[in-house]
Amino acid sequence: MKTKQSKSLFETATAYIPGGVNSPVRAFKSVGGDPIFIKKAKGAYLYDEDGNRYIDYIASWGPMLLGHAYPPVVEAIRKAVEHSTSFGAPTELEVQLAKLICENIPNVERVRMVNSGTEATMSAIRLARGFTGKDKFIKFAGCYHGHGDAFLIKAGSGAVTLGHPSSPGVTEGTAKDTLLAEYNDLDSVKRLVSAHKNEIAALIIEPIPGNMGCILPEPGFIEGLRALCTREGILLIFDEVMTGFRLGFGGAQEALGVQADLVTYGKVIGAGLPVGAYAGKAEIMEFVAPNGPVYQAGTLSGNPIAMTAGYTLLQELKDKPQYYTELAGKCKALHEGLASLLEETELPWTINRKGSMISLHFTNVPVRDFDSAGTGANDYFKQFFHGMLKRGIYLPPSAYESWFLSNALSEKDIEETLAAAGETIEEMNQKR
Ligand SMILES: *Cc1c(COP(=O)(O)O)cnc(C)c1O
Repeated sequence: MKTKQSKSLFETATAYIPGGVNSPVRAFKSVGGDPIFIKKAKGAYLYDEDGNRYIDYIASWGPMLLGHAYPPVVEAIRKAVEHSTSFGAPTELEVQLAKLICENIPNVERVRMVNSGTEATMSAIRLARGFTGKDKFIKFAGCYHGHGDAFLIKAGSGAVTLGHPSSPGVTEGTAKDTLLAEYNDLDSVKRLVSAHKNEIAALIIEPIPGNMGCILPEPGFIEGLRALCTREGILLIFDEVMTGFRLGFGGAQEALGVQADLVTYGKVIGAGLPVGAYAGKAEIMEFVAPNGPVYQAGTLSGNPIAMTAGYTLLQELKDKPQYYTELAGKCKALHEGLASLLEETELPWTINRKGSMISLHFTNVPVRDFDSAGTGANDYFKQFFHGMLKRGIYLPPSAYESWFLSNALSEKDIEETLAAAGETIEEMNQKR
């Protein structure tokens, strides 16, 4: 595998961009080595600056659900861009996308567009605080909600912990209003709720987490949260930045049959352009400016190019639900193939999967929360990652990330992936 161009670009990049990247996980820090610079992509394939081709399991961290440079999306962007890239005034395109979402997601009556998942979750928490008149909120260890200050709080020891900032620059003052619970542990939530009676505005959760690998909720967990929030007057926020429009048009809400009070979107909603959104019932959403007192704004929010890209992709997904069945089938084939390869070895492994999200953990422990996700052997993951990369398979460069399938993947691509996995796993098994 040639890497000359990527290496030279990375060297230049580090002179001008902190760490050479505009988002940390791209830097390969947790797997070692230098990042690959991508020149272009089409369908299921990425092409780097040295001319290598990769089968892509990142899909830009989710958005490219139907593959890269999806022709209807490219065409829609091309058409829109001729009419300027931004107006700072309302457009029909925003209305189209909002209407499509509101008409097809049962508990969504209003949706406000922003520019990233981070903005969506920050705004949703502000709205929940403004609406309830309370300050604190609950989040779960290992759930990622973007880089807003209030979310950058890591678990201390014990389930019932007051938050401590996990990044310098986040003040103790901010952290004190973030309460930390453990995923799949309803009691950890109940303890926080009774210790902070009538102080909690919201509970935010990735209903099916994808940021500590892919994790599945155990029966009754999400239902229990819904009941508890309703009883206590806490707004339940589903962060569907990853799962929204991916697990089905209705996202995790539909997959789990549970409705949140507020939902945040990102990734798929913008088809690869910078879009996020927060949404919910009119009663809550109308509390946002200009009709309500909670301020939130954006110069480029509802950008016409981004709106037309998102609308084109979402309309396609809504019209063709068979895409979701196909994607789930491909993911299942990958799961079964990997499992049968790993069964032949002495390596520890656990695979989690939901729809088109899958993660391989090098541990024998069931991975059901942040702590169990942490039992995965990062050394094995590094070997696996680099073994796959040099065989032309591009996986997320972190053991804590779900892989994202796109429907552009063919059966042959899955077979090629499994062949590469077979060789890599064989290598790893011999090295033990
Ligand atoms: C990616 C992600 C975010 C952050 O979105 P950005 O667009 O990167 O700001 C928030 N929540 C979840 C669940 C995500 O996966």
